[in-house]
Amino acid sequence: MKEFKHFINGQFVASSSSFENRCPADNKLIGTVYEAGKAEVDTAVKAANAAMKGPWGKLSLNARVALLYKVADRINERFEEFVDAEAQDTGKPKSLARHVDVPRGAANFKIFADVIKNVPTEAFRFEGPDGVQATNIAHRTPKGVIAVISPWNLPLLLTTWKVGPALACGNAVIVKPSEETPASTTLLAEVMNECGVPPGVFNVVHGFGPASTGELLTSHPGIDAITFTGETATGEAIMKAASVGLRDISLECGGKNSALVFADCDLDKAVAGTMRSVFLNCGQVCLATERVYVERPIFDEFVSKLAEAANKIKVGPPDDTEASMGSLISQEHQQKVLGYYELAVEEGATVVLGGGVPDMPDDINSGAWIEPTIWTGLADGARVVNEEIFGPCCHIRPFDNEDEVIALANDTAYGLGASVWTENSSRAIRVSEQLEVGMVWVNCWFLRDLRTPFGGAKQSGIGREGGVHSLEFYTELKNICIQL
Ligand code: NAD
Repeated sequence: MKEFKHFINGQFVASSSSFENRCPADNKLIGTVYEAGKAEVDTAVKAANAAMKGPWGKLSLNARVALLYKVADRINERFEEFVDAEAQDTGKPKSLARHVDVPRGAANFKIFADVIKNVPTEAFRFEGPDGVQATNIAHRTPKGVIAVISPWNLPLLLTTWKVGPALACGNAVIVKPSEETPASTTLLAEVMNECGVPPGVFNVVHGFGPASTGELLTSHPGIDAITFTGETATGEAIMKAASVGLRDISLECGGKNSALVFADCDLDKAVAGTMRSVFLNCGQVCLATERVYVERPIFDEFVSKLAEAANKIKVGPPDDTEASMGSLISQEHQQKVLGYYELAVEEGATVVLGGGVPDMPDDINSGAWIEPTIWTGLADGARVVNEEIFGPCCHIRPFDNEDEVIALANDTAYGLGASVWTENSSRAIRVSEQLEVGMVWVNCWFLRDLRTPFGGAKQSGIGREGGVHSLEFYTELKNICIQL
C-alpha cells in the first residue's frame, strides 16, 4: 500500500487525518493520503516564505533556469513512474498518459524557463515640457508565495502548467492537488529534491477543498496569490477567499464548449477532430466539446459518421493497449454523468449511441465505467445542452446559417473554447472573431503552442496562462524611473 505524504520544506511528512486513494478503473485501494490541517498548512506557508528570503530569492536567473531544465529531464528519466501514477489515479489509458500528460508535464518546466530568459521588459525615455528627462525601466520581481490548486482531470499537466512559470519567475509554491489524484504531484516532490530545488520552494499539502486543506490554504494570510483550475463554483469560493488581503487570482474554470461544423468542411477531418474533442480522456477535458452544431446539408451524414466512429471506441483499464478510453475519475462522478444521461432522455433526446454503463469483465466491473454517448433532438434550453457534464458525450443540433450558429454557440454562461470546421478561411476568421471564448481552434482541437494565451471568457475564468501571459501573473511588474 502506498502512502501519500505532504512535502513541506523538503521533507515528506504525515498528519493525523487521512483518507483512501482508490483506482477508479477497478475500485482497488492504491493507498492512504494524509489530509493537511491548519498546522501543516501553516508550516508549509512559513517554509515557503522563508525560502523566498533565503538563497532561492537571490538565485540568478541562469541558475533557476538550469534547475528547471533539470526537473524536466528528471521527469523524463522517471517517465514510466509518472505514467503509472497518473493512470492509477485517473483510470486513463497509459497510452494517453504517455502521449499527453507526462511529456507536457516535463515540457511545462522547459517552456517557461525559455520564456523568462527571452522576454524583454519595456523602457521609456521621458522628456518633460520643462526639459526634465528620465529613463523608465520596467523590472519583474517574483510575486511571493503562490497557492496552486489543481483539478483531477490532467493532474500533472495542469499542476506543472502553474508550477513551471511560478518557479521560473522565482516564486515559492504550495500545491494542493485534487484529493482524487495525489500521486503524480507527490512524485514531482521527489524529483524536486533529487534536482536540488531548495527546501521550501516547492511544497505539497494533500486534502480536500471546502472545510479542509484547500480552504485553509487559500484563506491563509501568508499566501500572496492563488492560481486555480477547477469548477466555476469553486473559482467563486476561491475569489472570495482571495479578496481578503487583496491577493491576486488566476482562475481557469469550467466550459460548455461548442464545435461549429460547416457544410464546406472536410467532413472526415471534422469527424476525426470531433471524435477527439468529445471523447479524449473520457470527455474529462475542460476544452471538451459537449455541443456540436452541424450545418443542415451534412447533418445526417455527420451524425452517422461520428456515431460509427464512436461505436468503435474500446473502453478498458490503463494497461489495455487496445483501449482508447478509460474510466471516469470516480464512482461519484459516474453517478453525476449517469444522472445527465437519464436527464437527456427525460428532456426528450434521441439517444444515437450509448447512454449507459458498459459491461466490463468481473474483476473491473466495479470501476467508474461509462459509455460514449451521442444525443440529438434536444431543445436549446435543455439542461443537458447548457450544463457542463464532464463526460464522454455530446448533443448534435442542425443549423442553417452563420449568424444562427454564432448565436447558438454564444448562448452559454461559459466561454472557454470552440472549434470551427470549414475550408473557407474568410469564414473561419469571421466566425472565430465573433465567438465569445478564450480559444478557437480552426480545423483542429487542443493543438497547443505553449507560448499562446490559454484561458476562458465569461464564467470560464479570469486571466490567461501560457508564454508571457503566465509571467504577468507570477511577477510583480515594477517601474524604475531614473531622472537624468
Ligand atoms: P473542483 O473545483 O471540484 O476541484 C478543483 C480543486 O479545488 C481540487 O483540488 C479541490 O480540492 C479544490 N477545492 C474545492 N473546493 C475548494 C475550496 N472551497 N477552496 C479551495 N480549494 C477547493 O474541480 P474538479 O472536479 O477537480 O475538476 C473538474 C473541473 O475543472 C471542471 O469544471 C473543468 O471544466 C475544470 N477544468 C478547467 C480547466 C481550464 O483550464 N479552464 C482545466 C481543467 C479542468
